[in-house]
Amino acid sequence: MVAIREALIPVGNPVGRGGEKLQPQGLVLHATADYEATAQAIRDYWARLRSPNRANAHLIADWSEVVECVPWEPVKCEKAWHAGEPANSRFIGIELCQSRDKTKALAAYANWVQAAAMVLHTYGWPADAAHLWTHRRVSQELGGTHHTDPDGYLQELGKTVADAIHDIGEAIKTVAQPQQTQPTGGLTPILGEPQITVDQALAYVRAHTSSAKYPAPVVDAIVRLYWALAPVYGIRPEVALAQSLHETGFYGFGGLVKPEQWNLCGLGATGPGNPGASFAGPAEGVHAHLQHLYAYACDRPLPAMVQQVDPRFALVKPRPTAEYVEWLGHADNPRGAGWAWPGQGYGAAIVGHVKAMATMPAPAPVDVAAVREEVRQELIARVQQALESA
Ligand SMILES: [Zn+2]
Repeated sequence: MVAIREALIPVGNPVGRGGEKLQPQGLVLHATADYEATAQAIRDYWARLRSPNRANAHLIADWSEVVECVPWEPVKCEKAWHAGEPANSRFIGIELCQSRDKTKALAAYANWVQAAAMVLHTYGWPADAAHLWTHRRVSQELGGTHHTDPDGYLQELGKTVADAIHDIGEAIKTVAQPQQTQPTGGLTPILGEPQITVDQALAYVRAHTSSAKYPAPVVDAIVRLYWALAPVYGIRPEVALAQSLHETGFYGFGGLVKPEQWNLCGLGATGPGNPGASFAGPAEGVHAHLQHLYAYACDRPLPAMVQQVDPRFALVKPRPTAEYVEWLGHADNPRGAGWAWPGQGYGAAIVGHVKAMATMPAPAPVDVAAVREEVRQELIARVQQALESA
């Protein structure tokens, strides 16, 4: 998969990129119409344009690289000026650099197809007419612009728009699936291995739970339950615990939910008169929380070994809604759904707890060999003592 190099146009007025946030609904395909100009050269040209003659797109592909000029990724995405209004307020734009050298032209085309596939894959969009537009189609159907790219240039390459859409669809299948660390750099996956030790979490929680409604040993037990049970679901325990701390106010329960409900994540607590679900005890409460978060983070059924205790598991749609903590708030979610409503900054607050936990000192690992030797010496001393006194 092609790597995208970040070379963002600085935010500024009247020169620079606009910086307005965008919740995109699709991608517009362009060609630059500027033969032999590299992605970097086009980006530098755009960076010099003054408003109201601003022009730029999120991504540009040439024969050696793809350059990101305006943030395109979920949450970070901003409006660019590539296809007039209303399209600029709806779509991400990607440009194809042109060359008369057939080898360079096809290399750029391949990079452009791969980068477009990465955008569609990241947002979960199929390569269909609803999500994939050309500048020409924007001119015809939405107006506000009159360009007809990239059709004519594609024709020079012996390709049609339908070919490009087909190639992008094929490329989506080859986009690396599992961890998505590259295309969504900076986001915090919900699923994965623990990256914080239970001792770090305990240290963080103990420092903040002076007004908890549970006794300290119960709070400790809840933290340990997250570390014991989250791996059953493949969830990072620190992420689930951080959400629980956020939802309950470090178990101070200042909101709708009462401590005796053992509802550790505000599950189903939608407003006055509806305090949400109740559970038999802390273990069931932690299971229910993990199950609900699991419904958000992946599209798989619950692990076979567990019994469903989350009464709202089947209500989570679409699945997945949010593979990343940052996507848990509706307002920050590229699919227009989420755990919290309106939820702007909800995920960021949870990530804040996770980052703070990571700064807690991890206790030095126990030196097992040294402890064993100590015990051995102690036993030898006792045996000698016993023999001497016999
Ligand atoms: Zn265009």
